[in-house]
Amino acid sequence: MWVRVLPGVLVSTGIQINKISHEDWMHRALKLAMQAFNADEVPVGCIIVHDNKIIGQGYNQCESLNDATAHAEMIAITSASSTLDNWRLNECAIYVTKEPCSMCAGAIVNSRIDKLYFGCYDEESGACGSSLRFVEVLLLLL
Ligand SMILES: [Zn+2]
Repeated sequence: MWVRVLPGVLVSTGIQINKISHEDWMHRALKLAMQAFNADEVPVGCIIVHDNKIIGQGYNQCESLNDATAHAEMIAITSASSTLDNWRLNECAIYVTKEPCSMCAGAIVNSRIDKLYFGCYDEESGACGSSLRFVEVLLLLL
């Protein structure tokens, strides 16, 4: 697994996955974040891509589901696993609008997602380089 931070969707990395760019995928994640915002949730959106197709998506629903685990990433991982009928999400990329927390970073590693892209750091609870480096710690343990 490797982590690449996209410093906002307006900055091009010059790297594309087939014909759809990282910015395109992140734009779709941002649309989901808007859905969360419109539902008075913390505005985070997430998609999971496999073979250039979105196989899972989610946005924060902690308030509406009354569930502390209903982060965008957790919902997207469950959705993608259902789509593939497999909890192992090898060769998948996850795009999330904000740096994952420790719970979601653990789920990303445990689901074997290959690539993580996030739109901005979360200095308070980010676990992929900000307050913690949970992804790297888990990778050392695996
Ligand atoms: Zn989370």
